[in-house]
Amino acid sequence: MADLNGLTFFIKTFGCQMNENDSERIAGLLAAAGARKVERFEDGQVVIVNSCAVRAKSEEKLLSYLGRLGSWKKKRGLVIGLAGCVAQLYREKILVKNPDVDFVVGPDNYHLLPEILSHGLGPKPVITSWACDWNEDERQPFMRESPVSAYVTIMEGCDNFCAYCVVPFTRGREKFRPLRAILGEVASLARDGYKEIQFLGQNVNSYKDPETGALFQDLLKASDDIKGVEWIRFITSHPKNFSGDIAEAMARSKKVCSHLHLPLQSGSTPVLERMKRGYTREDYLGTIRLLRSLMPGISLSTDIIVGFPGETEREFEETMSALEAIRFANIFSFRYSPRPGTAAAKLDDDVPFDVKRRRLLEVQKRQKAIQTEIHKGFIGRTIKVLCLGKSKKDKRIYSGRSEGYQVVNFTSEQNAIGRFVRVRVKDSGPYSLGGDFCEEG
Ligand code: SAM
Ligand code: SF4
Repeated sequence: MADLNGLTFFIKTFGCQMNENDSERIAGLLAAAGARKVERFEDGQVVIVNSCAVRAKSEEKLLSYLGRLGSWKKKRGLVIGLAGCVAQLYREKILVKNPDVDFVVGPDNYHLLPEILSHGLGPKPVITSWACDWNEDERQPFMRESPVSAYVTIMEGCDNFCAYCVVPFTRGREKFRPLRAILGEVASLARDGYKEIQFLGQNVNSYKDPETGALFQDLLKASDDIKGVEWIRFITSHPKNFSGDIAEAMARSKKVCSHLHLPLQSGSTPVLERMKRGYTREDYLGTIRLLRSLMPGISLSTDIIVGFPGETEREFEETMSALEAIRFANIFSFRYSPRPGTAAAKLDDDVPFDVKRRRLLEVQKRQKAIQTEIHKGFIGRTIKVLCLGKSKKDKRIYSGRSEGYQVVNFTSEQNAIGRFVRVRVKDSGPYSLGGDFCEEG
């Protein structure tokens, strides 16, 4: 067992919830070996940068951060480790471009970090092999950021190869975690007082227990029986794998929230075809109709890409009309960014930057207005909120999420953190609701 007693480390995380959860795991692994986590990179002897490769912009942010670390390293000395998707994608090449980086470790190899840091595993090690099996022992332990809401990984990797997406190249093929291990982790989190669980995976709907063949809907049904946890969410769903059985399991469940993140990407069937998404606009709208018939009030969120190769003005307008027809509670929208190795990288990136920018602004402007309208409808209502902490802007204000995953900021005379409360909504903006504590939830 590696001994890291006395070592201090800092972790910088870029990217999605999977990276956030991986950073919690890296912190847990290093702390178990005796190292101490610090809150500023200036206080760390080691900095691990957990990187994201999903868009060129994420890589640019990473490079600028590595530049800052490099300057500090020259002044004070520092060990810099690059983890995550950029590490897996570029491997040895990173060391040539960024000589300040001391080691490179891909997402399937974090269990080796204590050893890398104690024995070095050679000069400037680059460890990016794929693990073929899910090893439970190697996944533990975690140092979680929140004492209230926890991520639980149910699968790694992705087999979909959407034309624009680098994830299958950075995270490898689909690997599913055994159902008994997932349920065991949820039960232990419930014992530790966690109130909300978020199942994680690139395409959770394709989940299949490697031991029993149980499907995602079976996981939802089984986790409904675990005492203590009150809310269950999952991310990310894929429209082509989102079956009627899953929708029914959601609707029947007492704990699965009435909220779904279902990335649409484009409202145009020809664009979806070029993206290799495996569904049409009509398929998607049909799924939304089904969800709304089973769960009337369900809160829906999505991801949108504008300016995919060949996207015409008419095709873009179909995305706009989809926003109008569906009225999402929240969206994440992006300009298409070509990624190395993907199918779309071979296509001509022919939508000019200014057109992409204008389309993105149009999407965001329309969505902002829709969200403002949706949020206004909450004023005067009393809603259930899981309080996750204090507001970042004002420490006198508590902050949490509604069942529909809206940010709710509220006043309270008593400490509400970690509790379910009822909040009377009295004001709203495009991105949050505001109100006062009413009673225990
Ligand atoms: N597995 C999830 C899914 O199927 O949607 C998430 C994948 S990715 C980490 C999150 C979002 O980033 C995607 O849904 C997509 O909207 C966006 N994205 C991925 N690749 C992109 C690219 N090359 N350019 C712009 N946006 C991209
Ligand atoms: Fe990327 Fe598509 Fe897999 Fe999501 S489903 S991670 S967008 S390839």
